[in-house]
Amino acid sequence: MFDLIIVGAGIAGMTAAIYAKRAGLNVLVLERVMQGGQIINAQMIENWPGDFGISGVDLSNKIYHQMNKLGAKVEFDNVLAIENMGKSGNERFLVKSEDGEYSCGAIIVATGTEPRKLSDKQAKDAGRRPVSYCATCDGALYKGRTVVVVGSGNTAKHEMKYLEGICKKVYHIHHDDPIPADAEAVFVAIGRVPETGFLGNLVNLNSEGYIVAGEDCKTSCAGVFAAGDCRAKDLRQLVTAAADGAAAAEAAASFLRGKNS
Ligand SMILES: Cc1cc2nc3c(=O)[nH]c(=O)nc-3n(C[C@H](O)[C@H](O)[C@H](O)COP(=O)(O)OP(=O)(O)OC[C@H]3O[C@@H](n4cnc5c(N)ncnc54)[C@H](O)[C@@H]3O)c2cc1C
Repeated sequence: MFDLIIVGAGIAGMTAAIYAKRAGLNVLVLERVMQGGQIINAQMIENWPGDFGISGVDLSNKIYHQMNKLGAKVEFDNVLAIENMGKSGNERFLVKSEDGEYSCGAIIVATGTEPRKLSDKQAKDAGRRPVSYCATCDGALYKGRTVVVVGSGNTAKHEMKYLEGICKKVYHIHHDDPIPADAEAVFVAIGRVPETGFLGNLVNLNSEGYIVAGEDCKTSCAGVFAAGDCRAKDLRQLVTAAADGAAAAEAAASFLRGKNS
């Protein structure tokens, strides 16, 4: 049994692991894809203090290395559900994943957000054409070809600009417009949604699915903490994700000390 399980190895989850290890906890981090989370899609970061112009991948690898050096255990596994098996004052959680089950005394949910998917109508329209959520990652595959960007916000504008430098033609359409017949790939930029569906009724979520928790990262369930972009808050950035990771780990350590005293 672990003291603490952290779900998600984005910037919030990895920072939480660093603080939790330094607080002497036995920590397991569960990550379903790879370390770093969404920032691995950023080519250059200009607002992470102390490292101007670093790429998202390099920043993630540096933090991952630091977390490993401090002794956090990492498993690449997809968490499907969390159950509260204990009683009030003696909470114990069972984390069910694709590869098995793990138990722990406290949890930090740091699962971030994922890109919003195409509407059913547009997905049907897109048919078998490739759908991407990242022009920087996949744009080069469509060099000299015709693509379409779906979305109306700043991210969509950024994707358009990037693809216009590579592709022969870039259509720009809005959510629910028909996909042009000659577009060979679809780039989607219609916002992001929180990765919280697997929590069921374990904690309170707001109407958009973000976890309701204050600056102390405490959720409605004792022993469960929320950190990073999956938490209901105003500013979703690297520094706020890292700050949440630190606050959540401190709150979890204090919670576990209270149970064991
Ligand atoms: C293209 C792009 C550029 C950006 N540029 C900047 C920038 O320059 N400066 C800045 O401050 N911010 C930037 N941001 C925002 C920043 O990346 C986020 O605010 C921050 O990375 C959020 O970190 P997080 O750890 O909360 O979540 P995420 O990065 O979303 O990490 C969550 C992790 O949890 C994992 N996960 C999810 N569900 C499960 C599950 N069920 N089981 C196991 N693992 C799971 C995911 O795989 C992921 O690795 C950018 C975002 C994007 C997309």
